[in-house]
Amino acid sequence: MLAAAAWLRTGMPEGPPSLRLTIVGCAPAYALRPGHAASCYLVEVGGEGILLDMGQGAFAALGAYREPSTLRGIVVSHLHPDHMIDLVPLRHYLRYGLDQARSLALHAPPELRTRIGALMAEAAFLDDLPGDDLQPGTFQLGPLRVEARPVTHALNSFGFRVTRAAAEEREPGLVYSGDCGRPEDVRDLVRPGDTLLCEASWGTSSPVASEAAHLTARQAAQVARDGEAARLILTHVLDAYDPAGSATLAGTVFAGPVQLASPGLVVDIG
Ligand SMILES: [Zn+2]
Repeated sequence: MLAAAAWLRTGMPEGPPSLRLTIVGCAPAYALRPGHAASCYLVEVGGEGILLDMGQGAFAALGAYREPSTLRGIVVSHLHPDHMIDLVPLRHYLRYGLDQARSLALHAPPELRTRIGALMAEAAFLDDLPGDDLQPGTFQLGPLRVEARPVTHALNSFGFRVTRAAAEEREPGLVYSGDCGRPEDVRDLVRPGDTLLCEASWGTSSPVASEAAHLTARQAAQVARDGEAARLILTHVLDAYDPAGSATLAGTVFAGPVQLASPGLVVDIG
């Protein structure tokens, strides 16, 4: 957290801009540890930033790193609350918390606007965050390019690969699994040299039935190995499934560096 705060004060270092990933929150559907917000990942380049997901607790946690209205946009992987429910305080902030109301681009799966509109009994609740429904393919948010690919989890779930919009063909990017129960879906997003931010909800447990809709640490590591990723960051690990042991286990499968996501972790990519 301190490293990120210092970076905000001093600006980007000299030289070609690289992607910077900051873990704002990485908890799964529930966590008993204070300060552990759910899924929320800040991706920045050249002073501009986007968020991947915004689960419970993420809005307040984001304040440690970035003033929310300065974001270029938000991308949501799927419709579970631990990936999107803090769009509610974000929208309140954009409308009521600034001298002048602001809007932010939101790219989310079909139905998200309907569901949050129903929750808030206000169909147009997310109109302050305009944007397209996610479809398989590529779109641009400011200086970042996002590739969206369907993954096997809940209805309309996506994983993402993020690169600089101006990236050369072979320039490494960030792949985020979202929530996914089928390793092959994530594997299809990974290019050699990428950083893989992969869910491992089931941690050190043995492979489970595919209908469980989440991955183990071993499966995440196999994706990193088979995709020739440069680095693996495990995230979304349930407390009951040994988060620290999960990183150790993954290191027996994938030869590159393995880290366990934690709030405030900052990783430079490229
Ligand atoms: Zn989910």
